[in-house]
Amino acid sequence: MEYISTRGRAPALDFEGATLAGLASDGGLYLPREWPRFSQADIAAMAGLPYAELATRIMLPFVGNSIKPDRLRELCFAAYGRFSHAAVTPLKQFDEQQWLLELFHGPTLAFKDVALQMLGLLFEEFLSRSDAHLTIVGATSGDTGSAAIDAVAGRDQIDIFMLHPKGRISDVQRRQMTTVLAPNVHNIAIEGSFDDAQATVKRMFNDSAMNGRYRIGAVNSINWARLMAQIVYYFAASLQLGGPARKVAFSVPTGNFGDVFAGYVAAQMGLPIERLIVATNVNDILHRALSEGDYSAGEVTPTAAPSMDIQVSSNFERLLFDCGGRDGAAMAEQMAVFEREKAMRLTNAQRDGASGLFSSARVNPDDMNSAMRWANDSAGEVIDPHTAIGLHAARIAEVAADIPVVTLATAHPAKFRDAVERATGIRPALPQRVGDLFAREERYDELTGDYDSIANYVAGRATESS
Ligand SMILES: *Cc1c(COP(=O)(O)O)cnc(C)c1O
Repeated sequence: MEYISTRGRAPALDFEGATLAGLASDGGLYLPREWPRFSQADIAAMAGLPYAELATRIMLPFVGNSIKPDRLRELCFAAYGRFSHAAVTPLKQFDEQQWLLELFHGPTLAFKDVALQMLGLLFEEFLSRSDAHLTIVGATSGDTGSAAIDAVAGRDQIDIFMLHPKGRISDVQRRQMTTVLAPNVHNIAIEGSFDDAQATVKRMFNDSAMNGRYRIGAVNSINWARLMAQIVYYFAASLQLGGPARKVAFSVPTGNFGDVFAGYVAAQMGLPIERLIVATNVNDILHRALSEGDYSAGEVTPTAAPSMDIQVSSNFERLLFDCGGRDGAAMAEQMAVFEREKAMRLTNAQRDGASGLFSSARVNPDDMNSAMRWANDSAGEVIDPHTAIGLHAARIAEVAADIPVVTLATAHPAKFRDAVERATGIRPALPQRVGDLFAREERYDELTGDYDSIANYVAGRATESS
């Protein structure tokens, strides 16, 4: 399988190259040159497979010749063996129509583990083929950081530098990163928002001085391998609910558009999906883009669902490219306008292409809180604020009564226990697998958002590529 950039000027790469590169050299994002397709019979034959076996089948066409099938299977069993639930992503029922897909049974309590446990193993697999060193530079709104650090802590050929917006993530989120004291883990709190941190990371990828000295890798969802791993649970949920013979709708709490884009890819591969509901909080750029064609970034408003406090959604570019006729030159032009003016209009082709599968909703804090209460009152499920945004959007969406609607539960409620307690009066306990998080020593440095100070910090600590 070959991977091409959304901006048309970077060289095409194989799966190994795209995984290690992260961002393309022209500033674009890598996508497979074409979507692999499964027939309805192929999909039906996947029913009942263990999750790791299903993952192997779904990932195989994307991985191509980069990893042999038996080795890929071993990596999938190793990655998903670390989950605390045998089903890996169990499905729960609220009522006749509403379902919940729990994606938070990994080591760090958010859905990011589903992709990052796999990505950590892929990095190690590829790096072990030479003595290359990878310097991962990432930005986190809370959950990517802890999941990525868990996945690569202590590995010899990797250093990880993780930027988080100071004071804008929950204490559980911060401690899950800063109490990992392995020498290859470097946590940095910066002034500003997640968007500022993400912009710094993108600039470092495009900084030829840095990129020449270090092999800089990505763990954010700009890395294609992350999205690939997330396609699997759309298949898993659909197969349990009668797919492929029956269509299913999904409601996805959305920030950087990675998770819901994986659902779009599942549909391109042949999975019958009725609709993908993009649920945002008051940081609603995606809702405005999908409902009115207006992709314009405002200021980020901090909320009780911090992992969605994002205005610039990196992966939206992948959708616009795919729906807009896969024209790299036009995409580069459109993104240049956005980078200059912080605003752009979707083309008619992009709007029409997206409207076939996507709808969207902006969920305010009152509705988020009442969704948390409804989940508990109706089914005894304690859900986190992000999941509640998805659930509210699912319940107000107009979907035919015979179509199941699956809300993706993106985080364990204990990760955001203060917000859950404010809404429901219940304080969810941290599961045992996170250990004595609040007794451990924390280690991190604070920097201003200034690019040069961050680049100097990385340069002073990273290993040069050979
Ligand atoms: C990352 C995250 C999201 C947003 O996912 P995207 O792929 O960035 O759209 C939603 N909820 C939680 C809990 C997250 O960690």
